[in-house]
Amino acid sequence: MKEQIIFYGVGQHTQVNYHQLIAKGLSPLCFVDDDAHKQNTKLFGHDILSLEEALRRYPDSEFYLTIDKHNLRVGNKNLLEVFENLIKIGIPEERIKFVNPMEQRKGCVILEGQPHISSNNIWICCAVPDEDKMQSIQYDNLKDGLESYYNAVSAIVKRIKSSQSTMCDDCVYLQEDFWSITPRVNCFIFEGDFKGDFCNFKCCYCGKAALYEEGYRKEGRDFLDTLRQIGELFDKGEISLNLANGEITSRPDCDEILEFVQSKQWPVILTTNASIYKEKVADLICAGLMYFMIVSLDAGTSETFHKVKGVDCFDIVAENLRQYSALGADIKLKYILLEGLNDNDEDIDNFVEIVANLNATCRLSANIYTRRNRLSKYALDAAISMINKCKERNLRMECLYENFHILDRKTLKMAFDR
Ligand code: SF4
Repeated sequence: MKEQIIFYGVGQHTQVNYHQLIAKGLSPLCFVDDDAHKQNTKLFGHDILSLEEALRRYPDSEFYLTIDKHNLRVGNKNLLEVFENLIKIGIPEERIKFVNPMEQRKGCVILEGQPHISSNNIWICCAVPDEDKMQSIQYDNLKDGLESYYNAVSAIVKRIKSSQSTMCDDCVYLQEDFWSITPRVNCFIFEGDFKGDFCNFKCCYCGKAALYEEGYRKEGRDFLDTLRQIGELFDKGEISLNLANGEITSRPDCDEILEFVQSKQWPVILTTNASIYKEKVADLICAGLMYFMIVSLDAGTSETFHKVKGVDCFDIVAENLRQYSALGADIKLKYILLEGLNDNDEDIDNFVEIVANLNATCRLSANIYTRRNRLSKYALDAAISMINKCKERNLRMECLYENFHILDRKTLKMAFDR
């Protein structure tokens, strides 16, 4: 008799990896998702059901937990919660499965395999509470560099498991959940010092501006070559890429890069200023290969936008975002709170309105380079007011706590959790 399997979770991770799961012999009878908006629709020809309905139809099935574990932000439902709920309603443990071997312990999605990669270094994490504890591996050869990276991550996990001090001490993202037993990169986050990187904006908070002072970078590892090397180490669809190296759409070889990525079926997180509309970006969205787009708007008015970004094109960006959103892009609209620049009601109100119109997620942040300083009371109140306004309108929200002073993080987290 055919095994009775239900996939629990229909996020983008499941959608992108569905065919690989089928290739592993995992063929579901249906999907389950807790999001009522997704229930009673179909995915790959299978019903998406509530847990209750799936159990009514298939009471003896096995559950494969396929919920997204891609996003660092606090507040996402984690595997452990889903697992415990299934146990609570009487599903035996042996009928709850994971696609890859997992263990219960403290961890986070970055440690799970999301390194920052620059021309010469692989950084284990850039959100470390104490910057002096950041760890990186220098590499010449990517394969060897990754081996050293895996060893370093394993050593940190071992210390976490035995309650010893690590770079993750006091990190808000460290949480009890199911995490992979063996480290394996699932997403490369690219830093902007590759050959050919550039950005057409001049954001007042940018720490990378000096890299592009003379235009396109002539130094560094060739970016497309690096992607090709990654292609030799990882299969189609096996990893995702966070393209945060400069403004990728301003590179002359942007189309070639995105075509290569699409040929590899690697889902993309595109960190972009959205000032240049690209058909290739639209292609990725339509092909279901855009996990999400991260766009730092940082303003709600054209005037503030110009002051913050150094370029006067607020309306162009807004129109491009509208077009990407109409194609179905999941947009995380970022607001880097800047004292005296955008911490006023007008900008915040207009920004929240834009988030609502784009059906986007509001991503509140601060300037990472000044996170050793506390915010003024006025700016902190502005951040809390943004949180409250999003809550009142039931908008999706995230906070990049790591970019705030450690004491301000606690205040903001309280506002989020209230
Ligand atoms: S410092 Fe925080 S975000 Fe970074 S790896 Fe550790 S737990 Fe994750």
